[in-house]
Amino acid sequence: LERTFIAIKPDGVQRGLIAEIISRFERKGYKLVAIKLIVPSKEFAQTHYHDLKDRPFFNGLCDFLSSGPVLAMVWEGEGVIKYGRKLIGTTDPQKSEPGTIRGDLAVVVGRNIIHGSDGPETARNEIALWFEPSELV
Ligand code: ATP
Ligand code: MG
Repeated sequence: LERTFIAIKPDGVQRGLIAEIISRFERKGYKLVAIKLIVPSKEFAQTHYHDLKDRPFFNGLCDFLSSGPVLAMVWEGEGVIKYGRKLIGTTDPQKSEPGTIRGDLAVVVGRNIIHGSDGPETARNEIALWFEPSELV
């Protein structure tokens, strides 16, 4: 079955949105197969976001991701990679539709509370980066 990597970023954790976000994935019907709270190092954040290393916001983004606890998760189910991103909404919360996580709960692109893998290969790589195989149930 298809799996994707989802993370609640430090702003989402700090704002107390863990239960709200998990509940949206659960109610949709997806299955949680791994979960842990972790404060990533800046180097780890740089590895996670390596595709964006040439963007002007890369340094600030990695500082932010490593600024506090991140709730790292793996979710499983049919179409979960693509549909998970649909639940999340578009990158800029100002452009996210109401009803999506970012549309309902976030305001600015630098504090958009959640990450989701953007394709099958990214999902595989991100799951392997954040979790040991033994942590997946
Ligand atoms: P994520 O990878 O976090 O799920 P995404 O796939 O919607 O988000 P990406 O293009 O991968 O968007 O960008 C990764 C993150 O970088 C975004 O979630 C956002 O926090 C930040 N970011 C993207 N564009 C900008 C920008 N123009 N200014 C500041 N931060 C940005
Ligand atoms: Mg992305």
